[in-house]
Amino acid sequence: MSEHPTIGDTLEGTVERHPDRDAIVYPRKDQHWTYAEFDKRVNRLANALLEAGIEKGDRVATVLYNGSEMALTVYACAKIGAVFTPLNFRLPAGEIEYIVNDAEAELVLFEADTREAVEGAKPDLETVSEYVFIDDDREAVPDYARGFYDLLESGSPEKPDVRVAEDDVYAFIYTSRTTGRPKGVVHEHRDMVEHNLLCIAEGKMTRDDVGLSVMPLYHCAELHCNLFPRIHRGATSVIHHEFDPEATLEAVEEHGVTLLFAAPTAWNALSMTAAEADVDVASLRLGLYGAAPMPEQVLANCREYLCDDYLQAYGMTEIGPAGVFQPPEDQLSKQGSAGLPALNHRLRIVEPDADPDAEVEPGAIGEILIASPCTMREYWNRPEATAESLREADGTTWYYTGDLGYRDDDGYLYVVDRKDDMIVSGGENVYPAEVEDALFAHDAVEEAAVVGEPDDEWGERVAAYVVADGVEAADLDAFVRESDQLADFKRPRTYYFVDELPKNPSGKVQKFKLREDEADLEPEPETVT
Ligand code: ATP
Ligand code: MG
Repeated sequence: MSEHPTIGDTLEGTVERHPDRDAIVYPRKDQHWTYAEFDKRVNRLANALLEAGIEKGDRVATVLYNGSEMALTVYACAKIGAVFTPLNFRLPAGEIEYIVNDAEAELVLFEADTREAVEGAKPDLETVSEYVFIDDDREAVPDYARGFYDLLESGSPEKPDVRVAEDDVYAFIYTSRTTGRPKGVVHEHRDMVEHNLLCIAEGKMTRDDVGLSVMPLYHCAELHCNLFPRIHRGATSVIHHEFDPEATLEAVEEHGVTLLFAAPTAWNALSMTAAEADVDVASLRLGLYGAAPMPEQVLANCREYLCDDYLQAYGMTEIGPAGVFQPPEDQLSKQGSAGLPALNHRLRIVEPDADPDAEVEPGAIGEILIASPCTMREYWNRPEATAESLREADGTTWYYTGDLGYRDDDGYLYVVDRKDDMIVSGGENVYPAEVEDALFAHDAVEEAAVVGEPDDEWGERVAAYVVADGVEAADLDAFVRESDQLADFKRPRTYYFVDELPKNPSGKVQKFKLREDEADLEPEPETVT
C-alpha cells in the first residue's frame, strides 16, 4: 500500500481498524459479514477474476440489481485494478450492447432478472470473453457462463498480488442519457477516495452509523455517496435488492438504520407510507437526497413522519457526483436552493459556454461551473466532449456542467434548468422548468415536458407535451393565463397531449427525443394564440 490510498486500500484500512464490526448485511440472502469476512470474500473474488484472465485495466461490466455481489465486485475490481463498469439493470438489449461495446468490456456479470436483456445483446458483444451469472440456483447458470459463488469459492482469500496506484482508473460510469448517448465517465481511484471524505464529513458519518442502500448501486449517487463512504468509515451497510417503501421502513426499524439516501420521488413515497404504517423509525438521523430539489410539501411530510434532518447533494456523474451540499440547517431557510460548494470545491456562474472568468452578477442566470478534486479524467474515447466540458484557467480545471443556475447574495446555488433545454423565443430566454411548474399546478396534469420548436417569426416557440385527462389546450391556456405566473412569451403556444413521455431508465424525461421527433409519439398539435 502506498501512502496515497486506492479504493481497495480504503477497505483494508477499515479492516485494520475494525475487523469485527458489521460491514455488509444482505437480508435477501441472509448474509451478514464483518469487515474481516467481507474483505476475505473480496480477495477471493479478486483472485478468481485474475485466474479467469482479467488483468489490470480490463473492463468488468455488471448488469445487476442491488446485492452483496455488487459490493464484492466493485472492491474486487478495485484491488486488481480492473475497471468497474456498472450498467443500469433496466437497460434493454440494444443499450447494453452499446455500452459494453463502447467500453470494450472483457467480462459481463449478470443474473436471472437481467438475463433476457444480456442474452439479447450477447451475439453482438465482441470484446467479451467471460460471462459470470449469479448462481442462486446452480441449475440455472447458462452453459456459456461461470457461477458467481463457484468463482468466489475458488479464489484464495489472500490479498491479490497487483499494484494499483491512486491515479489508475477505478471505473467507467456511464451517464444516464438524459441529453443524448450515454458517455463513459472515467474516474480514477483518487477521485473517489477524496469524494468519500467529503461525504463522510458532510454526513457527519461515524462507525456507529447504519446505512440502508435502496437506491440502485449501479448509479454513482448510491454507490459513491453512500456505500463507499460507509465502508471507508467503518459503518454498516444494509442492502436491499430494490426499492420498496414498506420494506424500507421495516428495515429501518429492524436494523436501527441511521442514514438513508433516496430520490425526492422515493422520499415522497416513504413519507406517505410512514404516515399510515405502524413502524418505529426513530433511529433515522439523516435523510440524504439528490438529483432534484425536494418539493416543500414533501420535505414537510418527511420531517413529520420520518426524521428532522436532510442533506441535499447537487452534482453529476462527471464530478463524483456530489459537488454542492445543502446541509440540514439550511433546508427551510434556503428552500429550493442546492446549497454551497463542498469542501475543496469552487463554483462559478458564467455566460453559457464563456470563459471561466466571464462571471455573471449574483442573481443572474448562467452556466454552472465546478472545480472539484473529484472531477473525472475524461469521457472514454470522446476527446471532443472532454475538451468541451473540461477547461483550464489559471491552473484550475473547470467542469462545464451544462446546467443553468444562479447564486443568491449569500452565494447559495439555485439550479434552474439544463442549458440544452433552454428555449429562446423572440430573444427572450424561457426556462422550461418554470413553465412545467405552472402546468403541474393544474389538477388534471400528471406530467409535462416543455421544449422549444422552430418558429419563423420568433425563432422558437414554447411547446408543451402533457399527460392529462379530460382537458384541452384551451383549458390549460386559460389556466396558465389566469394563474398569472408566466410572462406572455413563456406561455405554451402548442400543446401535445400524449399517453407518456420518453424517459431514460432513471426516470428522467429525454427532451432531445421530443425535439428530434424520436419518441414515436406522433401527437396532433393543438395550438393557442
Ligand atoms: P446525461 O449526462 O447522459 O444526459 P444525466 O446528466 O441525467 O445524463 P447524471 O449525472 O445522473 O446524468 O445527472 C446529473 C444531472 O442531474 C445534473 O446535471 C442536474 O441536471 C441534475 N441534478 C443533480 N442533482 C440535482 C439537484 N440537487 N438539484 C437539481 N438538479 C440536480
Ligand atoms: Mg449529464
